[in-house]
Amino acid sequence: MPALNATQPPFGLMQDWPLTVDRVLEHARVNHGHREIVSRSVEGPIVRETYADLYARARQVSTALLEDNVQPGDRIATLAWNGARHMELWFGAMGIGAVLHTVNPRLFPEQIAWIINDAGDTHLFFDLTFLPIVEQLAEKCPAVRRWVLMTDEAHAPPAGKIPNLAIYESFIAGKSRDVTWGNFDERTAAGLCYTSGTTGNPKGVLYSHRSNVLHSLTSLQRDSLGFSVDDVIMPIVPLFHANAWGITFSAPAVGAKLVMPGSKMDGPSIYELMDAEKVTFSAAVPTVWLMLKQYLEETGKKLPHLDRIVVAGSAVPEAILRSYEDDYGVKVFHAWGMTEMSPLGSMGATTPEFREQGKDAVQRNKLKQGRPSFGVEMKIVDDNGNELPRDGKTTGHLVVRGPAIAGAYFKNAGGNILDKDGYFDTGDVAHICPLGYMQITDRAKDVIKSGGEWISSIDIENIAVGHPAVANAAAIGLAHPKWDERPLLVIELKPGQSASREDILGFLTGKIAKWWMPDDVAFVEKIPLGATGKLNKLQLRQTFRGYTWPEQAVAAR
Ligand code: AMP
Repeated sequence: MPALNATQPPFGLMQDWPLTVDRVLEHARVNHGHREIVSRSVEGPIVRETYADLYARARQVSTALLEDNVQPGDRIATLAWNGARHMELWFGAMGIGAVLHTVNPRLFPEQIAWIINDAGDTHLFFDLTFLPIVEQLAEKCPAVRRWVLMTDEAHAPPAGKIPNLAIYESFIAGKSRDVTWGNFDERTAAGLCYTSGTTGNPKGVLYSHRSNVLHSLTSLQRDSLGFSVDDVIMPIVPLFHANAWGITFSAPAVGAKLVMPGSKMDGPSIYELMDAEKVTFSAAVPTVWLMLKQYLEETGKKLPHLDRIVVAGSAVPEAILRSYEDDYGVKVFHAWGMTEMSPLGSMGATTPEFREQGKDAVQRNKLKQGRPSFGVEMKIVDDNGNELPRDGKTTGHLVVRGPAIAGAYFKNAGGNILDKDGYFDTGDVAHICPLGYMQITDRAKDVIKSGGEWISSIDIENIAVGHPAVANAAAIGLAHPKWDERPLLVIELKPGQSASREDILGFLTGKIAKWWMPDDVAFVEKIPLGATGKLNKLQLRQTFRGYTWPEQAVAAR
């Protein structure tokens, strides 16, 4: 019998209910309208609004954008911390088919300008904190026709250097809430996020409504984020990082209370808000968890309400995992993912086989990056794309496939990124055990991740080889106690030439962002090259494994 579909007799099939993200907020309004979103505002006070308020204000944002001639597909950028206004913008822009583009304010202004121009953003909304950056950006980004400062008139600065500046509260005040959301194809673009975790210029990852909704459903599985209406969720991971790990959609999808930390990301501020709002779940990179752990140790404070945390973005250090679980009774879930994956790829939920072996085995296993949820296909392959065995020791390129995984970068940057079977190469090197746990063992891509942010090794090398005494240079990421990874610059000098560590670092100063500055310089006779003449970073990372950083480098950062 041939397959049946809605266009053939005997008719009768499920409804066509487009998977658009406005439906998530609509669901939250109807079923969880009174649940709160608590934000530490950039202006200072704690602000409370409900999902019903968020819905109403997001619709005012939509009307304001439409009246400002925003068309479907236009890119609306934000330079903003985690807060309710930022969420209003997400839903307000996405609801009318515009694309919400989160820009990472931690990049340096030239990179930010490049990204805004590449994206072709027409509007940029920004928090007060970023006024000095925006003053530098305004003349470099001619396509932006409206700059909106996310505050009220009382906090507005005196007229300054920014043309077409609007103040958020006035921009949306009194705007109609009677606006149509959705009503377009679920494959319409919804969000844009650039990643620097690839070689060359940053690349845009374009999320669709459908991919966001499916990613939320995938992440709501119990062995993934598994949120409940009973949860109080604090996303410390910024909304501008990798689609906010999907939390902007998965939390309203279940009606969980949200607690947004704003610009204050230090240990005491995070602790204070977590404790006051009885946060049960939070998500952040290891550097944040380390910082909070230090604060808890210094003050003797505990985390009585916190039930579980997700640590991702870099491998979770064993000391963090054990300390949160053993000293504070918080369950730790180690996750792996990528901007290109919306971003969740795998999660370290425990299978019965490990539980039977006891706590120590469970915790050791949690150091692996975990198993994929339904919705992500994952395998390891050799250099020729042949699948490798899942034996827990054979390592290969980790490739992935799924409905919330990039099929191409924005504007097709970098060309085709999928293999013949539709798999995307993550640039990570891993093995997978027979029980399906994946463990990252190395990175094939040439970038360094420090405190959750990418540093381009190639940019550092290109500048370093400009030094007259340098024959070749390689920047590699090595384990660091606070920042997970920091750059070490390996230098091969020209014959008969000399240069000191200080000479090299002095040469880089002013040419790269301060936090990109290598923590140390190592001099070698010869930098190893691979078969094709490329720097052999794998070998270099092995040579320098266990490297001891100079004390001032560890203390200073
Ligand atoms: P991003 O797109 O900025 O989220 O970075 C994604 C990349 O970060 C991955 O491809 C990995 O290289 C790295 N990464 C993310 N999570 C982990 C983890 N749990 N352990 C090790 N590396 C990770």
